[in-house]
Amino acid sequence: MLAAATLLLASAALPLQAAAPPLQHRIAVALTPSSGEIRIDDNLVVTGRERYRFRLASWLVIEKLAIDGMRAEAQRQGHDYVLALPDAGRHRLDFVLRGVVPPRGAGQRPASARSSSGEDGAYLPAYDSWIPQPTAESMSYRLQVKVPVAQRAVATGKLIDEDSDAEFYQAVFEATRPTEAPSLFAGPYQIREQRSNGLRLRSYFHRELAPLSEIYLAAAAAYIQRYDRAVGAYPYADFHIISAPLPVGLGFPNLTYVGRQVLPLPFMRGRSLAHEVLHNWWGNGVRVDYATGNWSEGLTTYMADYALAAEQGADVARGMRIKWLRDYAALPSERDQPVRSFISKQHQAAQVIGYNKVAFIFHMLRLEIGGLEFEQGLRHFWQQNKFKTAGWGELQQAFEHSAGRGLDWFFRQWLDRSGAPRLSIGAHRVDRLADGFRTSVEILQPVSGYRFKLPLLLQTANGIERHEISISENLTRVEWVTSAQPRSLHFDPDSDVFRLLQPNEAPPILRDVTLNAKTVSVVGSADAEFNGVARDLAARLMDVAPRFEQLQLSRGIEHPLMLITGSADLAAQLSRLGLRQPPELSDSAWSAAAWTARLANGNPVLIISADDAAALQSLQRPLPHYGGQSYILFAAAGRAVDKGIWPIERGPLYVDLSGA
Ligand SMILES: [Zn+2]
Repeated sequence: MLAAATLLLASAALPLQAAAPPLQHRIAVALTPSSGEIRIDDNLVVTGRERYRFRLASWLVIEKLAIDGMRAEAQRQGHDYVLALPDAGRHRLDFVLRGVVPPRGAGQRPASARSSSGEDGAYLPAYDSWIPQPTAESMSYRLQVKVPVAQRAVATGKLIDEDSDAEFYQAVFEATRPTEAPSLFAGPYQIREQRSNGLRLRSYFHRELAPLSEIYLAAAAAYIQRYDRAVGAYPYADFHIISAPLPVGLGFPNLTYVGRQVLPLPFMRGRSLAHEVLHNWWGNGVRVDYATGNWSEGLTTYMADYALAAEQGADVARGMRIKWLRDYAALPSERDQPVRSFISKQHQAAQVIGYNKVAFIFHMLRLEIGGLEFEQGLRHFWQQNKFKTAGWGELQQAFEHSAGRGLDWFFRQWLDRSGAPRLSIGAHRVDRLADGFRTSVEILQPVSGYRFKLPLLLQTANGIERHEISISENLTRVEWVTSAQPRSLHFDPDSDVFRLLQPNEAPPILRDVTLNAKTVSVVGSADAEFNGVARDLAARLMDVAPRFEQLQLSRGIEHPLMLITGSADLAAQLSRLGLRQPPELSDSAWSAAAWTARLANGNPVLIISADDAAALQSLQRPLPHYGGQSYILFAAAGRAVDKGIWPIERGPLYVDLSGA
């Protein structure tokens, strides 16, 4: 859960190539992670441009700059520097940069993980502009890095040389194909290495993690082989897993950077590692044309996280699809957006679209064109686009190629529109015939224009028949003749269609309240300390800034509500809302709990109850990770002891025919 919330692809945006030939940098870095001191020498040759425009991290200064050996100066322009060149011919640029990589602060949040340094390691991501490179251009490079001998350094690119003496460790990395700028990592690492099919796999782990190296390297080798077969040959020479002092999970070309607190958790070497390995194909091997939307997170989620869930069983895969649909149902319509507008995960709301909805779309595409065609389409997309930038258009072409037919309608309806189909069942009847039964039913689609296949189960006295119908109109009438008495119809029994669940199909989860900008937060305690902790907690939970009001609790409240209260006051406040404590909470001991309910008017309520301010405080870290649950109970120190989603009755797409 933690990983799902923190994993993102740390790839810099690389739009279409500029006309000038790709830049080749020769970089030498001397870095002292403990103090953050850094010196960067960067040499490159430019041709065909009259100005060289680049961005530089604010903690770096240009100590020396020469054009063809002659001293020069770059002018600041907003966030960028501009260096005027004598003419558009061939020129050699030599930079010497110095600075102090900022020390790691306590409050750094994963999404804003910037360059940082400390005793336990240094982090210099490409997107932080630590070398003078135009932000929108790709480049090739040779990077030599030197650190004190107690440290090890590693960068994106192929490791081509390393050695150490009494004072220093140094290593050389090379990227010969145009790619994003290098990202650099250093720390007091222990290196373990394994070879697999000609690849070099390494772990750069902090000391306490060394015992996990073998497991990680074996798991990474297995995932690489898996995607080799599914997609095409792994596009790099190396793969590294690097332990991060920060609570992150980031994918870079040929490596992944994962929090040292996260690495011991079992899910990390499962779905999360698979996800990061697969980003070497989707996102790094084929770079994302961000101008047309980000397809890579959804495709990676589908082929890694979802595919591994599916291997555990059809019910596990179905559970993941239902969770995606529930999360989508919890998204207020004004926060919905078309898939094509998803760029990166800034909010939970963006994850619901860019990861989950997109993964669901690939699930439906596979059902639409067939499993073999889907797999051929993926391989074709890889062959056509590796080491290039590609968008949704190239994906569509690849699947049209493998399916042998146009799929424009499919991609348009799922990518260009926000929203989702809604389905309900209209009139239905069973007629007795001379030699059997005729079942007729109407399927209604109030939102026009969605076209999809709708699976269904028809249960008769003889057993269950599986059918599939095509939906494209607002009203679809179907009928079946069976020899045995029909008993029930169940449409979309396995949740294979991305659609808006109806309220009684979607039991309330925390996100119904925390994603809704209309939510009002109420702290039901007069205690000042409790109040302060409650306000912090509300700010962490809400996807937008929380709105606090001192309103009178009643059963008629006209908006979603978050109530944070002391356990002693709980019963009285629940009764004002017309709610009762659910039985799940009575059965076990807890010091803090969060659960959802619906008021009689349908508005969702999130109730957070704690014995005291300390118990409430212990929820600050864990509770935001349980947005997909209906209830969670915590014992001391924020340890979750029970959680779940309220059960659903048979939904509105189930039709009982026994009395028809
Ligand atoms: Zn990802």
